[in-house]
Amino acid sequence: MLCPGCSAEMTNIDLEARQGSTLAIDLCATCKAIWFDHFEALQMAPAATLRVFGIITEQSNAASTALPGVLRCPRCRSRLLHTHDIQRNTPFRYWRCDAGHGRLMTFLDFLRQKDFVRPLSTQQLQELRQNVQTINCSNCGAAIDLAKDSVCRHCGSAMSMLDLQQMTRTIAQLQAAAAGQRPAEPSATEPSERVAPADLDALILAIQARDRGDDAGRSLITTGLVMLGDLLRKRF
Ligand SMILES: [Zn+2]
Ligand SMILES: [Zn+2]
Ligand SMILES: [Zn+2]
Repeated sequence: MLCPGCSAEMTNIDLEARQGSTLAIDLCATCKAIWFDHFEALQMAPAATLRVFGIITEQSNAASTALPGVLRCPRCRSRLLHTHDIQRNTPFRYWRCDAGHGRLMTFLDFLRQKDFVRPLSTQQLQELRQNVQTINCSNCGAAIDLAKDSVCRHCGSAMSMLDLQQMTRTIAQLQAAAAGQRPAEPSATEPSERVAPADLDALILAIQARDRGDDAGRSLITTGLVMLGDLLRKRF
């Protein structure tokens, strides 16, 4: 299947669905986007959700290409409709085929839909400013000068970050569910390796380490994803 964004062949990935069936998603690493047939995103079993997280964290270092303004359905070529939705308090977007063939969602919006992306609070923004000068927009990749701006000048996105603690908790629950156990209740006696580092402090350290090297151009979210990828690899 050809990517609606860049027209390259997408990578087809078979995942476990609920009730023991399988579902296939198509992924484009260049556009950092996933095509779901019908409403497959809703049918994903815990193991499948984990696998998609793993794939997203592996791809998080690659530069992404902005999607073009007009996207066409890979099945029927009709124009995909840009759709805004909201998950709890987090808005996310996707492009859907009006004939019901499926929808295209960016990695970032997949994470937003799973409620793992939070806007920065005023206090967090202050803390970030004191430690980091520029950051790349998680949405479009443009550089944001933190001394002057708190939203992206290019696309207007607010600064946001991965909620690493929430993700770590959810990953633990998904792993338990995938292994057929009852989801673990969060508890104070969890092994220390399960506890994510204090979110923003850890991110700032990672960004500062990056700025000293030549691996620039990361956003708060890609930095978070790299940390999360390390965590996932340790746990599998
Ligand atoms: Zn593409
Ligand atoms: Zn279609
Ligand atoms: Zn932007």
